[in-house]
Amino acid sequence: MADPVYVAYHSVDHPIEYWQEALEKQMPSIRLVTPDMAEAQKAEVMMTWNPPAGMIAGLQALKGVISLAQGVDHVLKDPEFPRHLKFARLIDPYMSEAMAEWVLLAVLEHHREAALYRQGQADHQWLRQPPKIAHDTTVAIMGLGAIGSHVAEKVAMMGFRTIGWSRSPKTIPGVISHTGDDGFTTCLAEADHLVSILPLTAETRDLYDASCFARMKTGAVFINSGRGLQVVEDDLITALDEAKISAAVLDVFRTEPLPAESPIWSHPKISIWPHVSAQTNAASAGEQIIEAIDAIRAGREPRNSVNVNRGY
Ligand code: NAP
Repeated sequence: MADPVYVAYHSVDHPIEYWQEALEKQMPSIRLVTPDMAEAQKAEVMMTWNPPAGMIAGLQALKGVISLAQGVDHVLKDPEFPRHLKFARLIDPYMSEAMAEWVLLAVLEHHREAALYRQGQADHQWLRQPPKIAHDTTVAIMGLGAIGSHVAEKVAMMGFRTIGWSRSPKTIPGVISHTGDDGFTTCLAEADHLVSILPLTAETRDLYDASCFARMKTGAVFINSGRGLQVVEDDLITALDEAKISAAVLDVFRTEPLPAESPIWSHPKISIWPHVSAQTNAASAGEQIIEAIDAIRAGREPRNSVNVNRGY
């Protein structure tokens, strides 16, 4: 029998058995262990979501870390994160597809004014609005990476005029690519629906503040599934209350779970989703995790390596 391959595991999202069962089908010798177990000191790899500060640094044999998410801010926020370690993240088409569904739902719900018709139903009112189709409407996708590029392509295929923003220019069928500060302002000014799927970095933290909402098209819808810390939530509430923007659809928040006392819960123009737009799925992500474990143990760079200096 092969010697056990110990892999340290910490996640607030799934019990250890969830990943053990998924991964041992492909690597029978894998043994997931929590960092408090003695075997964790033999682990060369750690898989994690949102580890407490210092947990990774406390594991002496580690050669690398695998983020159990496409985002990596939950690891890089640890000031003690050993930056010499190899660091891989997930890039899972299952998650891109899930996000595309969620974005289309959020956009279409507002595009076709579902809330107004549901209110009409509740009031027994036959309220009819003028017709419109996707072609008349601009959707901006902020962040055209692994997820955003797929989402943008799907949104464009629905017929929406689709524009996008990223650091480097992109060629995506049906999507107008913008970059830099001017590109950001253009997206704010032109979007009827502004969809943000950006990673959290020093540059994107607090990106959506009062000055940003002021530059958005009046009546636009703000949709965020990137990270909550990118939004100054008080400024968002002010922009909604002043009818500068008409609605917000939020899947991520500055504090998660959203605290019971947050005014966001009861704001009539905000739709809340509990960070479910594109969840990690062991069945679809298992193969790439095994591949990353093998690469890290062999001293090779894993396929989906994170650029630690860039922060995503
Ligand atoms: P990714 O492949 O790293 O793509 C990030 C995109 O953002 C790239 O297009 C990048 O531009 C752009 N970008 C980064 N910093 C920028 C800046 N300062 N200015 C302009 N563009 C910038 O990431 P991903 O896999 O698509 O995931 C994106 C984020 O979605 C994750 O980091 C995570 O926060 C979030 N997410 C949320 C959920 C959820 O359930 N809510 C699920 C998965 C992911 P370049 O292409 O030019 O580098």
